[in-house]
Amino acid sequence: MKKAYLCELVHKSEPVKNIFDFTVKAPEIAQTAKPGQFLHILCGEKVFLRRPISICDIFEDKIRFIFEVKGEGTKALSTAAEGSKIDIMGPLGNTFVESDIDNPVLIGGGIGIFPLYALAKQLRDPVVFLGFRSKDRVIMTDEFEKIARTEVATDDGSYGYKGFAVELMKKHIAEHKCGVIYSCGPAPMLRSVKQIAQESGICCRVSLEQRMGCGIGACLVCSCETIFEGTDKYKRVCKDGPVFWANEVNI
Ligand SMILES: Cc1cc2nc3c(=O)[nH]c(=O)nc-3n(C[C@H](O)[C@H](O)[C@H](O)COP(=O)(O)OP(=O)(O)OC[C@H]3O[C@@H](n4cnc5c(N)ncnc54)[C@H](O)[C@@H]3O)c2cc1C
Repeated sequence: MKKAYLCELVHKSEPVKNIFDFTVKAPEIAQTAKPGQFLHILCGEKVFLRRPISICDIFEDKIRFIFEVKGEGTKALSTAAEGSKIDIMGPLGNTFVESDIDNPVLIGGGIGIFPLYALAKQLRDPVVFLGFRSKDRVIMTDEFEKIARTEVATDDGSYGYKGFAVELMKKHIAEHKCGVIYSCGPAPMLRSVKQIAQESGICCRVSLEQRMGCGIGACLVCSCETIFEGTDKYKRVCKDGPVFWANEVNI
């Protein structure tokens, strides 16, 4: 059983309306955390189930995570004050990187960009594509730009390229070497990324942000369908993932 820790909230900001950037003191979690893993967070006394949030950055004794307010859990979490303690279980799940592959390409959309930041910091020469709905939802692009070649797209063209980040990625991999694609974002984006990866013969890992219950593999709420038969037909996003080979899961 994974342990939960009471972690002091040492930094809190709201860089974009309804998106909160938290850093907590969590030495036990930080020591073993890897990009792609997530935290299972108790969002206050009135919210029964923990909520899964990706690890965005890993420091020596701190962990950073960024979340959008969606419903009662994230709303309650957003009211935590600096100096207060948050009950966090983690790190949970697997990691993006199984082996070091040259010329990695990262593509994320919306709240899916957050786990890619810790990953980009660990990779050699990554190229990053980030997609947002519009300029007022754009976040972290300056931080990505400091560590990687980064291109940004918005659906309405109010910031960066007008269109989808996958279009930028497709153009890039047609013209440059790409050894692996790592992706996290909404399901339609992941489906496009998977298709482009398959057509180009590039291996691809996707992180799935499924609705989750227990977070430790017991309740099966977060099951996702795979291409396998029998007992492997469904995998648990919390325990077997959240990162999967794209060609193994039906997104
Ligand atoms: C492994 C993993 C990592 C995640 N990382 C992040 C992150 O870094 N930042 C972030 O902002 N969010 C992340 N999420 C999504 C986040 O967990 C949900 O937004 C959150 O649990 C919603 O809880 P709530 O109580 O606020 O909303 P609820 O009241 O539970 O739901 C509000 C609305 O959000 C929808 N919803 C709930 N859970 C999800 C989900 N998992 N995916 C899509 N829609 C959902 C519901 O259908 C409903 O419409 C992650 C999810 C997973 C599984």
